[in-house]
Amino acid sequence: MMSSQSVPSASPHEFDRLLESIHSAHRDNRAGALADYIPELAKASPDDFGLAIATVGGRLHIAGDAEVPFTIQSISKAFTFCLALELTGRDTVLTRVGVEPSGDAFNAIIFDAVGKKPFNPMVNAGAITIAGLLCETLGASAFDFVLDRFSQAAGRPLTLDETVYRSEAETGHRNRAIAHLLLANDVLKVSPDEALDLYFRQCSIRVTASDLARMGATLANMGENPVTGRAAFELRAVRNTLAVMFTCGMYDYAGNWAYDIGVPAKSGVGGGILGVVNRQLGIATYSPRLDARGNSVRGIASFEMLGEELGLHAFDCTNMGSSFVSTLIR
Ligand code: GLN
Repeated sequence: MMSSQSVPSASPHEFDRLLESIHSAHRDNRAGALADYIPELAKASPDDFGLAIATVGGRLHIAGDAEVPFTIQSISKAFTFCLALELTGRDTVLTRVGVEPSGDAFNAIIFDAVGKKPFNPMVNAGAITIAGLLCETLGASAFDFVLDRFSQAAGRPLTLDETVYRSEAETGHRNRAIAHLLLANDVLKVSPDEALDLYFRQCSIRVTASDLARMGATLANMGENPVTGRAAFELRAVRNTLAVMFTCGMYDYAGNWAYDIGVPAKSGVGGGILGVVNRQLGIATYSPRLDARGNSVRGIASFEMLGEELGLHAFDCTNMGSSFVSTLIR
C-alpha cells in the first residue's frame, strides 16, 4: 500500500488548507437549482456544501458539510458497471451496452443506431441495462450484493434512503419508458420492473462526501479499500470503469470536463460529484444546486480549483502519472 506522500507537492496539511480555501471561495455561489423531477430531492438543503479527499494511504481530509447524507444517484452507475464487468466479463457487458459518449442528456431516449444498445453505462439507458444484467446474474440478491460492495468500498455499512427510493419509483415514468425500449431492443433480458427496482434502489443509497471520497480512493487503489485492506472491486474491472468515467461520466459535459479538469469522474442529481486520481486520490464534492445538465455547480467550480492547484489533469505537465510507474522510470 502506498502512502499519501505519492501525491505531488502536497502534504496532508496542505490538503486541509486547500479544501478550506475552496470551500470559502465557493460558499456564496448560489447558482443552479435543486433537482425536483424526483420530488424528494427537492427537499435537500440547498446551501449544503461539503468537500472530501481520501488518499490511497488511507487518510481523509474534509471541509464543510462532508458528513451530510444525500443519495448517490447516478454516481452508482460507475460502481454497478464495475460489478457487472466482474460478474459477467467485459465481452458480455459489451454486447449490452457501448462505451461511447452519447453527447446527450443523462435521461435521453437514444440508442446506438447499429446495435440498438445504449451508448454507455453512465447514462440512464445504459445503467438500467446494467441493472438488468445484475438481476439476470444475481436474481433476488442483486441489491444486497450491490449494497454490500458499495459498503466495502466506503469502508462502512451504507443504507437505502427508503423515502427517495419510493419517490423515484412512483414518478420514474421516463426511466420506465427507457426500460421498455431496452426490452424491445433485446438488451434487457429481465422484466423492466425488476431492472428498474434495482436501478431505483442503487440510486437511493445514502452516502456522504466522505463516503464517496473513500469509494473513489478504493477505485484509485486498484479496487482495494485503503483503510480496511479488503477488495471491493476487481482490478481489471476498475481500469474499464475509470476509462468510461473519463469519457462519459459527466453526461453531455464529459468533453468539457476531460478538457478542463482531466480526471475520471461521475456526477449525480443528488448533488454529488466523484473524481478519481488513479493510484492517488478519491475526491468528492456535495452541493445540491445543479446546472442545466444536472451537474453540481459548486462541485464543478471546486474541482476546477482543486485540479488547478494540485495539477491533477491527466495531461498536466506536473502530473507524473502513477507513482508505480514513476518508481520504475527513475
Ligand atoms: N435516479 C436518477 C434518474 O434516473 C439518476 C439521474 C442522475 O443522477 N443523473 O433520473
